[in-house]
Amino acid sequence: MNNNEIFIESKKYMPGGVNSPVRAFRDMPMNPPIIKSGNGVIIKDEDGKEYIDFVLAWGPMILGHCDEDVVNAIKKTSAEAIAFGAPTKLELDMAKFLCDTLDNVDMIRMVNSGTEATMSAIKLARGYTKKDKIIKFAGCYHGHFDGFLVEAGSGVLTEGIPGCLGVPQDSIKNTLIGEYNNEKQVEELFLKYGDDIAAVILEPIAGNMGVIKANESFAKKLRELCDKYGALLIFDEVMSGFRVAYKGAQSLLDVKPDLITYAKIMGGGLPSGAYGGKREIMENLSPLGGVYQAGTMSGNPIVMAAGLATLNKLYKNPSYYEHINKMGERLENGLKKIAKEKNIPVVINRQGGMLTIFFTSASEVNKYDDVKRCDTEMFKKYCVHMIENGFNIPPSQFEAMFLSVKHTKEHIDKFIETFKNFRP
Ligand SMILES: *Cc1c(COP(=O)(O)O)cnc(C)c1O
Repeated sequence: MNNNEIFIESKKYMPGGVNSPVRAFRDMPMNPPIIKSGNGVIIKDEDGKEYIDFVLAWGPMILGHCDEDVVNAIKKTSAEAIAFGAPTKLELDMAKFLCDTLDNVDMIRMVNSGTEATMSAIKLARGYTKKDKIIKFAGCYHGHFDGFLVEAGSGVLTEGIPGCLGVPQDSIKNTLIGEYNNEKQVEELFLKYGDDIAAVILEPIAGNMGVIKANESFAKKLRELCDKYGALLIFDEVMSGFRVAYKGAQSLLDVKPDLITYAKIMGGGLPSGAYGGKREIMENLSPLGGVYQAGTMSGNPIVMAAGLATLNKLYKNPSYYEHINKMGERLENGLKKIAKEKNIPVVINRQGGMLTIFFTSASEVNKYDDVKRCDTEMFKKYCVHMIENGFNIPPSQFEAMFLSVKHTKEHIDKFIETFKNFRP
């Protein structure tokens, strides 16, 4: 079966032909390639066509596809331990490694996805503070948990869904929406609801409305407000953790969160997630405390092994991040130069190996409202051009492109050269 045959058949058995909406290319004038295999930065589809991958499973494959050490860890572990639902030494190895190598994580709880990590962190924050309301920011995505599905960026935005059907009003009545990088507006929310706010959650470097960084003064203000009103500050580092730096966005912002969520890179490409933070907060989780959260597959041996193999390599090789940053810089500068030559108005936001080209004539993109004004028709044309010419990039204006340790100057220059041939 070729790409199109598989996709048409898939639509009979899976809603939209996919298991996660953004993969369906619903908003694109083409069908998605059906990916068969990957090695390093090259992935191959069922038609035998090759692509240089700038999606990397939405971030996790930072070592490139099928890294030898990760593959070996999976092989070795799966030969003797697949699942027990009982404690294993591998869980200790992972938990200890995370607590030792990350900042502000005294204890951690493993789960199976980013969604699970953020929804559990919110429950823990509510249980700990005995308050109900949370503040999330427009354009930030924290997974598909009901309470987060308002102004939720990326998939929800690309699909043009205003919020989400099936979410009772009751589930979002405790969700307050802040404007990213707007200190004054958050301060007003606290003035009005301060006594009821359990937590503020944000992507400290947002990737799900395209790449937008929190200003340091904004992040500091959140810390200050949380301290003043007794709310917890939660950094959702599901995307930014181990990505913008090994220690994540918190290491770039100089602000200490109370709880942090991880997933994506942490599992080395396998389903994973975790949330951690201060001991006195984490000890409120069952079986120690009254906040119940559980998972049959949580801390799965194969996931722990793949994750550890990945994190070990990243931690021991700071040069990986230097390389990724250098490649990111090259890509950013190259694209800016071409866009200027061709008179295509763009804003490029980048942090390390996370980059978004916003097609907009605005001078900067700092918040969700700026993102919404982008020229999505122009983006679509650009996207089709890049994919047809052998580059796998996110099929949405509101996502980030990702770089891995395996991207070379040649891959980057080829991307820039192909962008040069783009005729809008
Ligand atoms: C991907 C993502 C999530 C959701 O993670 P899943 O594993 O898809 O459930 C949550 N928060 C952020 C910041 C993400 O990028």
